[in-house]
Amino acid sequence: MKTEILKCPKCLEYTLNKKCKECNTDALTPKPAKFSLEDRYGPYRRLSKKQ
Ligand SMILES: [Zn+2]
Repeated sequence: MKTEILKCPKCLEYTLNKKCKECNTDALTPKPAKFSLEDRYGPYRRLSKKQ
């Protein structure tokens, strides 16, 4: 059985209930840390050309 931690957006309290028992607001799944949306093309090496 998987325990899911939810968070009340109003109280900003973590709860295991689907609704916050304090304010009866739907508890939400806390979002994991966002991945960077920036595309990473890997190390960008700009080599100066020696003439
Ligand atoms: Zn609440």
